[in-house]
Amino acid sequence: MSNTATLIKRNDGFASNFSAAELPILPKLRTVILTCADARVDPAFTLGIELGEAVVIRNNGGRVTQEVLHEIAALVFLAAKLDGAELGPFELIIIQHTQCGAERFADPTLQAALKDKIGVDVSSIAITNHEESLKDDVEYLRNAPEIPGYVVVSGLIYDVKNGTIQKVVAPAALEL
Ligand SMILES: [Zn+2]
Repeated sequence: MSNTATLIKRNDGFASNFSAAELPILPKLRTVILTCADARVDPAFTLGIELGEAVVIRNNGGRVTQEVLHEIAALVFLAAKLDGAELGPFELIIIQHTQCGAERFADPTLQAALKDKIGVDVSSIAITNHEESLKDDVEYLRNAPEIPGYVVVSGLIYDVKNGTIQKVVAPAALEL
């Protein structure tokens, strides 16, 4: 059986007890979580995020790229439109993690091979120091005119060896 077939079978169970039809489009917690695509760091498990509570964006490393920035900007804009006059608070939580594949991207040999063989440049998402990467990503958001200043941003590191979370950047509005 293919993995698709196996997972669709699991969905049968999910759909047979479905009770989420009335969930609104806006996430209940008015929160976007940006984290790594790594299979070990799913926020539904690590943070107990339930259906309808938060928007989750995942990419290699949980890094703020230009694309991610535009996605977040569009979501915040849409939320503001749907919420009407009431702007914010809207929270963005960036979670990177230990033993991340993006740390391997910091290896110059691997970086060169990726560029050479498949034309992909990973230099901007490579992680050599988690705290620095998180601070850089928050700074990138802070300097982005597309993201309104009332958005509250925090930066966390999840430890894949014991499930704990370390706070690196405390939650604060981009424009204080
Ligand atoms: Zn990762």
